[in-house]
Amino acid sequence: MTHPDIERVLLGEAEIQARIKELGQTISRDYAGRRLLLVGILKGSVVFLSDLLRSAALDCEVDFMCVSSYSGSGSTGQVRVLLDLRESADGKDLLIVEDIMDTGLTLHYLLENLKTRNPRSIEVCVLLDKPQCRQVPVKAKYTGFQIPNAFVVGFGLDYNERYRQLPFVGVLREEVCC
Ligand code: 5GP
Repeated sequence: MTHPDIERVLLGEAEIQARIKELGQTISRDYAGRRLLLVGILKGSVVFLSDLLRSAALDCEVDFMCVSSYSGSGSTGQVRVLLDLRESADGKDLLIVEDIMDTGLTLHYLLENLKTRNPRSIEVCVLLDKPQCRQVPVKAKYTGFQIPNAFVVGFGLDYNERYRQLPFVGVLREEVCC
């Protein structure tokens, strides 16, 4: 089932769930016996994070940060921290969980910011990657899917706070977002 504002579905629910399961298994293996702090980036990562958390057999902490760099469908290019971690990052293995990497500016900023807090290690896990849009080099250790350069919604991703609830990832009709 799709939605009238969606032009095309890029990733269906079953495909996303299967990939998250694989990511969860890989992450569980890589971090077995370590002190992992999952850092979810609000709000777009919440659906991905909650599925990832349940597919990974991990004894981990979860915390959130909220940063803002977008309004509508365009980047403002500036990153601001709206909500910071409550847990200490000191000596922990941090895994930033993000919905999508586009220019890379948000994750680049977050990595630099979190590195100053003395973590034992820090890596990135993104559900979606748009490699054609990169402005700064950022490496995600774990990536769900590489997608083409299009503005997508669903599975946590919004357009002006709508469409997060869609269980798939799709491209919005042009007349809806422009
Ligand atoms: P970056 O800093 O890498 O350009 O962008 C990261 C943030 O931009 C993401 O966390 C997400 O909030 C937003 N973003 C980038 N591309 C898209 C997209 O195609 N759809 C939506 N809904 N948000 C996007």
